[in-house]
Amino acid sequence: MSKTLRQPTLVLNRNWQPVNIASVARALILVWNDQARVVEPVNYQLYAWNDWASLDPGPDEPFIQAVSTRLRVPEVITLNRFDRLPTANVAFNRRNLFKRDRQTCQYCGTQPAADELTIDHIVPRAQGGLSSWTNCVLACVKCNHRKADRTPDQARMRLKHPPVQPGWNPGYWRHTRRIDSWQKFVSDAYWNSELEQ
Ligand SMILES: [Zn+2]
Repeated sequence: MSKTLRQPTLVLNRNWQPVNIASVARALILVWNDQARVVEPVNYQLYAWNDWASLDPGPDEPFIQAVSTRLRVPEVITLNRFDRLPTANVAFNRRNLFKRDRQTCQYCGTQPAADELTIDHIVPRAQGGLSSWTNCVLACVKCNHRKADRTPDQARMRLKHPPVQPGWNPGYWRHTRRIDSWQKFVSDAYWNSELEQ
């Protein structure tokens, strides 16, 4: 994917409250699917796909070179129907699981070094448990040994948080570059408050 398509776009809900940050690629797909419209930060004008695609990028503006046209890069979009970003396909992999669980053992709450954390199947594979967002959590070596091939109930252990499928790319939000035009939509307090999943 090109660098431009990976740039961040601010996502607002129907009430123009920021709910997320998506890549430009994902933002354009949402607009293409009529799930969102592009917001022009200068005058707050809204653009559906056809209107947006018919605009010519200015000389200093980033653009995407499509087959026969240049597409302006959206900095802000607003969702048409949803108050949250439709669930993205966040890859189920070790790195994202570590981010979701904040490198914390979900049974005892310790934060050991990464190589002392294991991926625990809540319902063990031996009992038919799947490798999925909702059946896997991080567990320290000690808790994993203690739990062994049992469910938490069987092992009399308790999860700190219910394992959920993340609706966005974990960790992307806090580390992403912010774009000047977002200031109009987002207060400082907003950036600094704790996020709930
Ligand atoms: Zn533990």
